[in-house]
Amino acid sequence: MERSSLISGFYKLNPKERLRLVKEFANLSQEECDLLQNTGSLPMSLADRMIENVVGVFPIPVGIAVNFLINGADYLVPMAIEEPSVVAAASYAAKMVRDGGGFHTSSTPPVMIGQIQTVSVKDPEAARQRVLEAKETILRKANEQDPVLVSAGGGAKNLDAKVIDTAAGPMLITELYVDCRDAMGANAVNTMAEAIASTVENLTGGHVYLRIISNLATKRLAQAQCVVPKESVGGEEVVDGIVYASAFAEADPYRAATHNKGAMNGIIAVILATGNDHRAIEAGAHAYAALKGQYTSLSKWEKTEKGDLRGSIELPMAVGLIGGAVRTHPIAKVAMKILGVRTANEFAEVLAAVGLAQNLAALRALAHEGIQRGHMSLHARNIAAAAGAPEDIVNLVAERMVKERKIRMDRAIELIKELSADES
Ligand code: NAD
Repeated sequence: MERSSLISGFYKLNPKERLRLVKEFANLSQEECDLLQNTGSLPMSLADRMIENVVGVFPIPVGIAVNFLINGADYLVPMAIEEPSVVAAASYAAKMVRDGGGFHTSSTPPVMIGQIQTVSVKDPEAARQRVLEAKETILRKANEQDPVLVSAGGGAKNLDAKVIDTAAGPMLITELYVDCRDAMGANAVNTMAEAIASTVENLTGGHVYLRIISNLATKRLAQAQCVVPKESVGGEEVVDGIVYASAFAEADPYRAATHNKGAMNGIIAVILATGNDHRAIEAGAHAYAALKGQYTSLSKWEKTEKGDLRGSIELPMAVGLIGGAVRTHPIAKVAMKILGVRTANEFAEVLAAVGLAQNLAALRALAHEGIQRGHMSLHARNIAAAAGAPEDIVNLVAERMVKERKIRMDRAIELIKELSADES
């Protein structure tokens, strides 16, 4: 039979029926199908309502990072991640930071930006003035869309307008500033942006196309700082190494990308565990890192007068305690309960602290012992498992590879043969 991915009405089928078609297409075994449909804590009926064309679920481990002291309060931090060493590294860094009094954090109000794009405007500058003069009318109309948000103390609070030059000619961009309180706010802001489009068209005589939230949330920032005693971080030489690493990342985008990836390892793991939108957070973080024209590091590390290590991080943090999957995914609800944050602002600040901790752990490993050593044992276990090591000898194979400093698939296969022969 000819294989085709053109399947009409696929979305109308239930997950089992969809999987039957996928099974045929990809020649899956019944065992492979069962793996996909073994839904555990996320019932198929719920998964099927969350996204489209569902055929199964994808479990990933949830770990808890310990030792976090933030503004004098203790937090256990749930992380959903497939990468070894992240949870251990965050816990280790949080312990070092604890020695210096923990993290201190702050944040701006939870204001998101909605953009309304108007093209074919005859006199863009005059149109811009008319939009600004109609501010109260536009804000009122926006707020009529979300009385719940307004009653929670949020809503559209302000607006601005700018004329930009583009390859397709000048455009008038109206920006709506919406306080999203405890929601991430994309749906709320998009609804408002759509509702005011006709008013903007009438005011400008132009044509509105896009009406959408910006993920570059420069008005919704979270900051975290910490001071780590030099003894806790491993001595003065390690402090110097971290300061040099920080300067390297600040100056060089190639290094900055990896430096920031390290911080995002922790942040995204928490975002995922709590059912928040990790694409929004990644997009915002990297756009913010490039805001001044050259991509740079989101965190900075310097030496204090006493020779200790001071670190700080600032990035956009559009997260919610409600909305999206946060209150529908059963594991996200449990993760939120473990974390115990009461507002989206507190949540954003915890995330900034986690990012700073993760960044510290990576830099310390790089400046001190090299990143591979810290990663080695879990990495070796993964290689051993991938090479097919049975459960009872996975650790043995991993240990041997670490000892030999040869963590490779070919060596794992040899060791499996050797150790299995020993056992039989
Ligand atoms: P939502 O619309 O599900 O929930 C937000 C709503 O909850 C508010 O509008 C308000 O009416 C209500 N609410 C009740 N109590 C509140 C309180 N204390 N604080 C704030 N609001 C309260 O979700 P959302 O946060 O508007 O949107 C998030 C979803 O949008 C995510 O799933 C995200 O993936 C998705 N999304 C993202 C983008 C993007 O980032 N570019 C675009 C489209 C959609």
